[in-house]
Amino acid sequence: MPSAPVTALPRLVRTQAELRAALAVWRHEGHRIGLVPTMGALHEGHLSLIRRAGEEADRVAVSIFVNPLQFGPKEDLSRYPRDLEGDLAKCGLAGADLVFQPEPAEIYPEGFQTHVEVERLSQGLCGASRPGHFRGVATVVTKLLCLFGAEVAVFGQKDFQQLRVIERLAQDLSIPTRIVGAPIVREPDGLAMSSRNAYLSSDERRRALSLSQGIAAARTLFQGGETRPDPLRTAVLDRLASSGVRPDYVELRDPATLEPLAAAGPDARLLVAAFVGTTRLLDNASLGEGRP
Ligand code: AMP
Repeated sequence: MPSAPVTALPRLVRTQAELRAALAVWRHEGHRIGLVPTMGALHEGHLSLIRRAGEEADRVAVSIFVNPLQFGPKEDLSRYPRDLEGDLAKCGLAGADLVFQPEPAEIYPEGFQTHVEVERLSQGLCGASRPGHFRGVATVVTKLLCLFGAEVAVFGQKDFQQLRVIERLAQDLSIPTRIVGAPIVREPDGLAMSSRNAYLSSDERRRALSLSQGIAAARTLFQGGETRPDPLRTAVLDRLASSGVRPDYVELRDPATLEPLAAAGPDARLLVAAFVGTTRLLDNASLGEGRP
């Protein structure tokens, strides 16, 4: 009988000092480093980023840090799903060489007072309903990019506004790491994978499909010649309403600037955030894409 493949667990480091030492060895050996920042509770979406980083670099590091700075006071910081043991095994299978899992005090020691704010791109969409969220994201990602000095860092298009914010901060702050945006990984029925899907009851899981189905409905309208934002948005809103899902926003935006559009073209990005019960989910797609 063939034996199961043996996969080495990635090295786990928890302090900046340990991390710098490990990275120095890689650099000395001439390796290109790829970084995948995450908050853990890893799923196939995260693993696709790790595999992508492996295609772009010789050594892959994953950070697992549930960043307190990007959660509002009433959000799910304390109950955010955590599974370090499972995450390490998945990272190993996806080809990661190292996992950095710091304590909050390692990232935000006593006296910490420097923040990064990407001004325009952080306004609106998720920035409107989660004040301070992108300031927290931008601050921690800047720290991670500085700390790792990676050649490439891979982020998901699932968090489309976040991706644009990160591209902007890297450019504005002259951080040389190349930022790569990778496609959304979905469940077979179309639901965008998310660590927060673990919060959904089976009924909510079924109703959560309305996000991707709404986007698909808007795309069908677009393919039929509709370019006005309101009918396209309404197609999504109707689908959410019929599933009892409360929209946070449904917006049609320029994919580069995230500014509102007067008329949709194939690159127009349809972005959705909605509450399924108390769980806030995101989805997005460009209207010209195939299946959302
Ligand atoms: P998170 O752990 O939710 O902070 O996500 C870490 C990274 O994984 C971010 O760059 C996300 O955009 C990305 N990501 C999360 N879900 C998916 C998905 N379904 N497909 C692709 N990337 C994803």
